[in-house]
Amino acid sequence: MGQTKEDVLREASEKGVKFIRLQFTDIFGVLKNVAITIEQLEKALDGELMFDGSSIEGFARIEESDMYLYPDPNTFLVFPWRSTDGGVARLICDVYNSDGTPFEGCPRCTLKRVIAEAQEMGYVWNVGPELEFFLFQTDAEGRPTTITQDKAGYFDMAPIDRGEEARRDMVLALEYMGFEIEASHHEVAPGQHEIDFKYSNALDIADKIATFRLVVRTIAQRHGLHATFMPKPILGIAGSGMHTNQSLFKDGRNAFYAQEGNMQLSEEAFHYIAGLLKHARSFAAITNPTINSYKRLVPGYEAPCYIAWSGRNRSPLIRIPGKRGSSTRIELRSPDPSCNPYLALAVQLKAGLDGIKNRMNPPASVDLNIYELNAEQRSAHGIESLPESLLEALQELSKDSVIQAALGPHIYSRFIEAKKKEWDRYNVTVHSWEIEEYLQMY
Ligand code: ADP
Ligand code: GLU
Ligand code: MG
Ligand code: MG
Repeated sequence: MGQTKEDVLREASEKGVKFIRLQFTDIFGVLKNVAITIEQLEKALDGELMFDGSSIEGFARIEESDMYLYPDPNTFLVFPWRSTDGGVARLICDVYNSDGTPFEGCPRCTLKRVIAEAQEMGYVWNVGPELEFFLFQTDAEGRPTTITQDKAGYFDMAPIDRGEEARRDMVLALEYMGFEIEASHHEVAPGQHEIDFKYSNALDIADKIATFRLVVRTIAQRHGLHATFMPKPILGIAGSGMHTNQSLFKDGRNAFYAQEGNMQLSEEAFHYIAGLLKHARSFAAITNPTINSYKRLVPGYEAPCYIAWSGRNRSPLIRIPGKRGSSTRIELRSPDPSCNPYLALAVQLKAGLDGIKNRMNPPASVDLNIYELNAEQRSAHGIESLPESLLEALQELSKDSVIQAALGPHIYSRFIEAKKKEWDRYNVTVHSWEIEEYLQMY
């Protein structure tokens, strides 16, 4: 933290960097980049590099298309892989308008805006995500399949196979790039893996999620495998989540911890939980932004589908892991790794802060396996469901002015418009399920 332009220029020249990738994400979280050479680096760091924003999905219209990249010197990193002509580094950028104001469609600027709101209330927001992903084989032409090369399960030590070797190389590459890896293991489903890294402030973590997906996919490719963060690639086995552990710190101390409190949690923690529960149905459109996302949120696979919280169990939306003191945290289990990390974190923080500002209180915790309750029992406990489809989530988002404010009007309207079109394309498609179900019956 606290790197200056001069630090970046010095490190780049010391490490023999030739190319620098200037990265940013579009509103769907897709990483974009433009490569410059070392000769252009100073100019780039001065924010003088312009690009055509109208060519980026969800960004600007033709008439306002001149945009500027403002690289964040703290994000300077040299990649572990080199080109034959010299080292390759990256800088993550904010996107600015030509008049020098932050661009409303920039997801990173959006997250910064919500973080500033927390800062005004005296909080630093810490986040630790758990990204799950599948490793699939590629076919003779190098195209991804949905065939896994192992039959292992949770925490298994598979015989040395390409999956385990690839995962080890991913951990090494991530460590080289400044990640503190806490654990990596095989997940429940065949071919499914998880690599956990240490929590940090939200901006750093959003940058890290974007980097993580790039590194995992790149290393997989080098092992002849395809890594996917698609939430539910295969029917009948677990999908991939991005559980988001979160806590607020105030004056260097964990503000969710209260030794004397109920469950040793502070009032702020309960208000925050209440805020997440209140907005969960609408921010799903952002934390679970694909049609496929909702095929993961079904009973039976440790993914949540009901809006409840628990100190123990893994079926509700929110779990409070047992650790206390500085590790006191709330685990939101709905997000999946297909989200735009900047926007997904922005909406979660906004929801939690709304709970604190309005001193909301959560309903009683539910320490039962909710998957085993029927609809009547759930309604007796006042347990609502998460949206069952992207369409339902979009409808919820269009009713929630708090979450819309987190996104800002530009991103909100572009996002809704693009996602409704995605839904329409899906809706008119004749799927293989329909052929199997109806072709012979009628
Ligand atoms: P699980 O209990 O679901 O297995 P993991 O141990 O896999 O959780 O992941 C825990 C995540 O929570 C890690 O990323 C860790 O750094 C993070 N974490 C630990 N303490 C905090 C905290 N105070 N605030 C936010 N995240 C935290
Ligand atoms: N794969 C599960 C999900 O979709 C989570 C498994 C776990 O608890 O780590 O959320
Ligand atoms: Mg997991
Ligand atoms: Mg977890």
